[in-house]
Amino acid sequence: MRPSPRLRLLLVGAAVIVVLFVVATQTAGSAAGSPLAGRLTAADPSDDAPQTTSDFLTAITEDVDRYWTGTFADAGLDEPRVGYAWIPPGAAVQSACGSLDESAAAYCPGDDTIYVSERFADAIYAGALDRALPGSSQGYGGTVGDSAVAYIVAHEYGHQVQDELGLYDRYGDQVPTMAFELQADCFAGVWARSADDEGRLDAGDVHEALDAALAVGDFDTASPGHHGTPEQRRAAWGTGFQAGEPGSCTTYLQAAGA
Ligand SMILES: [Zn+2]
Repeated sequence: MRPSPRLRLLLVGAAVIVVLFVVATQTAGSAAGSPLAGRLTAADPSDDAPQTTSDFLTAITEDVDRYWTGTFADAGLDEPRVGYAWIPPGAAVQSACGSLDESAAAYCPGDDTIYVSERFADAIYAGALDRALPGSSQGYGGTVGDSAVAYIVAHEYGHQVQDELGLYDRYGDQVPTMAFELQADCFAGVWARSADDEGRLDAGDVHEALDAALAVGDFDTASPGHHGTPEQRRAAWGTGFQAGEPGSCTTYLQAAGA
């Protein structure tokens, strides 16, 4: 691959995604065990609901992938090509964006792969990061429950959608990181709406996702890596959820200067 400004931009973006969660998990310390196991219903309310964190992450990813594959097909586009890798506790994996460890939740555009640490997912599920995440540590929202984890997976998949649609090519030089981040939140909301329409969300799942979006919002508005304030991130997810269609998410890039 030829080095290009775009590639550098994408790698910086991926690094920013990782950094946010590095800070969070280091501060929170260890989240013991696998609290997700055996308690998940969002992806599949039937008897064969996932029993492990990695199975849950896979089930959510496949659910999100089904939605976007269908949506792309309806628009005459090729199926999104995305991989995923769940990082076991204590492990690290090599990616095109560098080494990723158990603090990671990231989409790497260099290898079209979503990486999520199982320990990180467990900690999100258990609410163990609320004092470490930028929003929740300031009293905005909180992360707890399966829908909070699903929000993060669907957000990372949203970056894959942006990559597939060529949005980084078209807007990467023109808009700040925040525009892509809020659009990924919006895309996560669009997927959640599809799951809700098909009866696969539990009571409280929408609230969990909105609270998680608040929790990961940050106040570092002067930073190039600013992802959006808690209110902006909650609003973006809500916009996608209410509209239920990806066109509702175009505004984030256009409003940012395109
Ligand atoms: Zn992101």
